[in-house]
Amino acid sequence: MLARLAGRRSHPSAFWIHSRRQATYTPYNPDAEAREEEQVDVCIVGAGPAGLSAAIRLKQLEVETGKEIRVVVLEKGSEVGAHILSGAVVEPSALDVLLPDWRLTDHPLSQPVTSSSMRLFTSKSTFPIPHPPQMNNKGNYVTSLSRFASWLGGVAEELGVEIYPGFAGARFLLSDELDATDAVGGQVKSVRGVVTHDAGLTRQRTKSPRFEPGIAFRARATLLAEGAHGSLSKTAISTYNLRHNAQPQTYGIGLKEVWRIDPSKHVPGKVVHTIGWPMDWSTYGGGWEYHMADGLVSIGLVVGLDYKNPYLEPYREFQRMKHHPYYRNLLASGERLAYGARSLTEGGIQCLPRLDFPGGALLGCSAGVVNTAKIKGTHNAMRTGMLAAETAFAELHPGATFVPIASPETFKPSGSSESTPDSEIVSLAPYNKAFVGSPVYKDLWTVRNVRPAFGGRFGTLGGVLYAGLDTILGGRVPWTLKHHGDNGSNPSTTSPDALATLPAAECKPIEYPPFEPPLSTDLMSSVSLTGTNHAEGQPVHLRVMKGVDGPANTGVGMQPAGVDVAETPLRRRAHVEANAGSYAGLLQKACPAGVYEYVSDDGGKVVPGNLETTAEEEGWDGKKLVINSQNCIHCKLCDIKVPTQDITWTVPEGGGGPKYTLT
Ligand SMILES: Cc1cc2nc3c(=O)[nH]c(=O)nc-3n(C[C@H](O)[C@H](O)[C@H](O)COP(=O)(O)OP(=O)(O)OC[C@H]3O[C@@H](n4cnc5c(N)ncnc54)[C@H](O)[C@@H]3O)c2cc1C
Ligand code: SF4
Repeated sequence: MLARLAGRRSHPSAFWIHSRRQATYTPYNPDAEAREEEQVDVCIVGAGPAGLSAAIRLKQLEVETGKEIRVVVLEKGSEVGAHILSGAVVEPSALDVLLPDWRLTDHPLSQPVTSSSMRLFTSKSTFPIPHPPQMNNKGNYVTSLSRFASWLGGVAEELGVEIYPGFAGARFLLSDELDATDAVGGQVKSVRGVVTHDAGLTRQRTKSPRFEPGIAFRARATLLAEGAHGSLSKTAISTYNLRHNAQPQTYGIGLKEVWRIDPSKHVPGKVVHTIGWPMDWSTYGGGWEYHMADGLVSIGLVVGLDYKNPYLEPYREFQRMKHHPYYRNLLASGERLAYGARSLTEGGIQCLPRLDFPGGALLGCSAGVVNTAKIKGTHNAMRTGMLAAETAFAELHPGATFVPIASPETFKPSGSSESTPDSEIVSLAPYNKAFVGSPVYKDLWTVRNVRPAFGGRFGTLGGVLYAGLDTILGGRVPWTLKHHGDNGSNPSTTSPDALATLPAAECKPIEYPPFEPPLSTDLMSSVSLTGTNHAEGQPVHLRVMKGVDGPANTGVGMQPAGVDVAETPLRRRAHVEANAGSYAGLLQKACPAGVYEYVSDDGGKVVPGNLETTAEEEGWDGKKLVINSQNCIHCKLCDIKVPTQDITWTVPEGGGGPKYTLT
C-alpha cells in the first residue's frame, strides 16, 4: 500500500490542509502535472453496494484460486457510506450468494420487514389499495444503506481490498494511441485507469501553496460503480457511444428524512408505499414509510424528473407531504435526525447502456439497474458487481478455475481469455455478454413496461392500471414500451427529463403552504442535518460549460480534440437568459440543497469572450447565477434536469459533500 494512502479509511477527511491561506498562484495544467503512479489489477470507482461487491468477489477468487490480485476502491465520501442515500428496503438475494454466512455476523440488516402495504393519498385522506406482487417484501430487510455500505466496506477490507475514502475519481488515464473501438466502431483511446482529484486548486483553477496532485491508478480493469449519473460513467457512456442501442436514461429524485418517533407509533419492519397526493396526476412519484430498527422511521418522496412544471419544488412537495394527517400523526412528538436527497435511475432495461468499454465496465447504478416497480436496486447493483468481478478475474487469470456464483447460467470461466496476452488492459466484453439472461436482466425485463406506462397520456392513473395488468401477465407481453421523450431524434445521451420541462409561460406557479417547524422546515435547516462541507476556496465543481451553444451535455475529461468546454461569460449569460427568462429559474426551485440562486445583478457586465475567470460575474437582464457549491449534497439533479443541459457536475476535492450516517 502506498505510504501516502496508508490509514485513509480511518482518517476523517483531508480538510486540515484546506484551511491554510493561499499566498501564491501558479498556472495549472492537469495533463502536465507530475503524479505518483500506482499499478493495480482492478481499480473500482465508488464504494457502494456494486463496487464493494465487486471488490469482495475479486478477493474471494484470490483465496479460491491462489492467484493474487490487487484491488483498489476509490470513494469520494470522507467515509464509506457518507454519500449513500437510499430508502431502504433491501432484498438479500445477492447478499445470500456473495456472503452466505452474513446472518451469523454483526450486520446492519437487523430489521426484517414485517408488513408491506400500499396506500392512495388525497390531500386529506388515504385509502389502502392492492399491493402489486413485485412489492411484496417478504424476506426483505429495512435498513440504512449508508450503514450497509459501511459494513460491506469492513468485510472488503478484511479480505485485503484497499479502500481509499476521500479520494474522488476525477479523470481517466488514457492510452497514448487510438488503440480501441467504441460501440459503433469508431477509433478511440482505451481507459488505463483513473486519476484522483487534485487538491489545493484555487477558485480560478491555479495552484495554491497546498497544491497536491492526484494519484494516477493505472489499472488493467477499471470498474465504474459511481451510482446514478456518475461523472466518470457519464463521460464513458458518451465517449464510447455506449447508449448506441439504448434509450436515454430517465431519473427520479428521492428526498428522505429519518425520524425517531413516538414508540407507541413505531411498528418495527412496517413498510408502506404511497401514490397520489402531493403529486398531481400527471407527475410521476410516490412516498414511503419504512420502520427501521431502534425506533427510527425512514420517510421519503420520489419525484420523477420528467416533471413538466418548472415551478415544482421537490423539497417543498416533500415538506407538504408531512402536513397530511397521516404523516402528521406518525411524526407528532418525534425528532428529525437526518435529511438528504439523491437521484435514482428509473429507465430499467430499455435504458441500459452497453456495459463494457475499452479497459473497463459500468456496474450497478452507474449503468442503471433499479427495478422501478419494486423500487429496489441494491440487489441488482451487488449482482452486477459480482458478475463484473468474475469476468474480470477470468480475464486477468485465464488459467484459473473457480465456481461462478453471480450468474452461473450465463457465465462460466472457460480457462481461456478474450484479452490479448500481456496486454495492459483486459476485455470486459464477457461481462456484457453474461449480463443477458442473468438474474438482473430477468428482474428488469419482467417490469420493463411499468415505468414507461406512467409517462403516457393517461399519467399516474393510466400507469397504475397498466402496471396492474402487466403484473398479472408477469411482463409476458410481446411489446416493450418506450420512455417519454424518445422519438428517435434526440441523441441518446440527451436527458429526456430536461426535455420534458415546459416553459414557465405554459405552467401555473405552485403555491406551497408555509413551513410548520419542527414537522416541516426551511431548506437550510434540513441541509444542516446532512453535515455537508467542502474545502474552501476550491473551484466551483458545478460547471456552466455548454449546452445552450453546443452539443449534448457529455461530461468532462475526455472530449474529442477541439470540443470547447470553457466556462465563458457568453455561456453564463445564455444560461441565465434561458433559465431565469423562460424556466422560472428551475434549479433554484429544484436543487434539494439550495445551491443555485438567480439573484439581482446590478454590477457591470463583462465583455463576451473576455477572461474565463470573470464568467461568474456575467448575467442577463439584471439577474445573475450564484452557485453555492459548498452546500452540494451530490444528488446530481442539476446535471440531469437543467433545461439547457449546460450544467456539468464534476467531482470536488475528495472528502467533500454530505456526511450521511443514517440514510
Ligand atoms: C431515494 C432512493 C430510494 C431508494 N430505495 C431503495 C430501496 O428501498 N431498496 C433498494 O434496494 N434500492 C433502493 N434505491 C436504489 C439503490 O439505492 C441503488 O440501486 C444502489 O444504491 C446502487 O448501488 P451502487 O453501488 O450502484 O451506487 P451507490 O449506492 O450510489 O454508490 C456509489 C458510490 O460511489 C461513490 N462515487 C461516485 N462517484 C465517484 C467518483 N467519481 N469517485 C469516487 N467515488 C465516487 C459515491 O460517493 C457512492 O459512495 C433507492 C435509491 C434512492 C435514491
Ligand atoms: S448542486 Fe446539483 S448535485 Fe448538488 S445538491 Fe444541488 S442539484 Fe444536487
